[in-house]
Amino acid sequence: MKKTIRDITAEGKKVFVRCDFNVPFTDAGEISDDIRIRATLPTLEYLLGQGAGLVLASHLGRPAGEPDMKYSLGPVAERLSSLLGREVLFISSPAVVDDEVRKAAANLKAGDVMLLENVRFRKEETKNGPAFAKELASLCDIYVNDAFGSAHRAHASTAGVASFLPAVSGFLMEKELKFLGDTVENAESPFIAILGGAKVKDKIPVIENLMKKVDAFIIGGGMAYTFLKAKGHAVGNSLLEEEQVDFVKGLLEKAESSGVGILLPVDVVAAKEFKNDSEKRVAAVNGIPVDMMGLDIGPETAKLFCEEIKRARTVLWNGPMGVFEMPAFAAGTKAVAEALAECGAVTVIGGGDSAAAVKQFGLSGKMTHVSTGGGASLEFLEGKELPGVAALLDI
Ligand code: ADP
Ligand code: MG
Repeated sequence: MKKTIRDITAEGKKVFVRCDFNVPFTDAGEISDDIRIRATLPTLEYLLGQGAGLVLASHLGRPAGEPDMKYSLGPVAERLSSLLGREVLFISSPAVVDDEVRKAAANLKAGDVMLLENVRFRKEETKNGPAFAKELASLCDIYVNDAFGSAHRAHASTAGVASFLPAVSGFLMEKELKFLGDTVENAESPFIAILGGAKVKDKIPVIENLMKKVDAFIIGGGMAYTFLKAKGHAVGNSLLEEEQVDFVKGLLEKAESSGVGILLPVDVVAAKEFKNDSEKRVAAVNGIPVDMMGLDIGPETAKLFCEEIKRARTVLWNGPMGVFEMPAFAAGTKAVAEALAECGAVTVIGGGDSAAAVKQFGLSGKMTHVSTGGGASLEFLEGKELPGVAALLDI
């Protein structure tokens, strides 16, 4: 267990909060989704209520280790200010920390909030350079990490700075660790993991880690075709990772000998082309036409998967069941999302695209927890200790 902001005295202190303000923008330069900003408000409001002054930091996008105003956090400062209902001082320093920033931090009073410029304007950030970490730390008395979405990176602002200051987690970080951690370690049985998405290779460590914990896997999405191939089916033009077929065969054997169920599709929605308006038809898995590709699970499969979900007490979902971005192939993912929303089990969604799918169907609020961290949630589910978490003080 890691210490949180409840375990420290913030009154009269300057607190450095690493947030995940890596928000998406429209082509017109407007913030298109501010969920990541909203998700950290409880932490910021709590600390302000305790009488702290805050220095906030985040990365945004992937500037090449140098200042690039396309990735300035200016728009985030504005949005944050309106969400918090108080002024947010933003100094757009190309060096992130300079004399003006140091002076402003030194003058910070209880209830003041300032936001630094994009930490990735400095090349030392992603290299976890100790000098930059020290510069950041010199602004404050306490370090709080609330950036779960960046916790799988050992960077100066996510890990390095913690070696210079007492370091604790914010509420969002705590919530993510609790839900993802409890799901993996203390799940109530029956515990089902639903895995889908595009690539088996990306999910192998997750499957291996969860094999010891789940009662059954449900496999859909593009990765299902490598499983179907391992079972001896022809998959036409569907996504197939030929080099993973032997591994998957071994996995199927291991699951069988350890009594872990693996549910695979029995039918698919097959299309001629990777296009929403392609000619398509439902095919049984032993009859996928050679010139077609499976882009969604079929209706029989959706029924089978949803029945299984109804029996579960804990469900972890990572990876869509089909190409849900195209309405013609979204039905399977939608059916599974609805089954989760209604099943009454603990439901935890990890993975950026899965979270986007649940949001697209308007069902985010019906899930126990939708993780804000794409890559970070995946690495957590692999059983890895995340550097940004490891750096925090233990209770
Ligand atoms: P997550 O971000 O939730 O971990 P992934 O990144 O692994 O999920 O996979 C998401 C992608 O998988 C989506 O863009 C989706 O279109 C794609 N996908 C799902 N099913 C198929 C399929 N049958 N063929 C090709 N791509 C698929
Ligand atoms: Mg993804």
